[in-house]
Amino acid sequence: MKNKMTDCIFCKIVKGEIPAVKVWEDENYIAFLDINPIQPGHTLVLPKKHSDDLFELDDRDYLELMIKSKEVAEMLKRKLKPKRIGVIVEGFAVPHVHVHLVPINKGGELNPERAKKATTEELNEIAKRIK
Ligand code: AMP
Ligand code: ZN
Repeated sequence: MKNKMTDCIFCKIVKGEIPAVKVWEDENYIAFLDINPIQPGHTLVLPKKHSDDLFELDDRDYLELMIKSKEVAEMLKRKLKPKRIGVIVEGFAVPHVHVHLVPINKGGELNPERAKKATTEELNEIAKRIK
């Protein structure tokens, strides 16, 4: 039988079993670049511990994830200087709770249909600007 946690791609990133372009982490949270960015600098923030639905987190974990997301959003804003940081939470593709932070400059940019695969070079280049 399949185990949700051991199959989870984000748990594998947390454990270092598959690569990701990390832009920030602390003991319990991690932020890395989305490989299919809606906009350059599109970042995912997540707890290292696996859980599924944002609104099923207990209040403490929910608030902590939001506070960490704010910290990462401030860093993206400072370094990339977009007008806004858009926020999306869906979780249809990867059931490990994560917050999408998307640097945006005008209405309509915060649209998952605009996501396009980035090369490793493009991701590394953006990461250099963020860190
Ligand atoms: P969703 O679960 O609907 O929020 O979508 C999952 C997001 O994770 C998508 O935007 C994917 O592009 C992104 N994603 C999937 N695998 C990876 C990975 N290995 N590294 C970075 N981002 C990923
Ligand atoms: Zn997971």
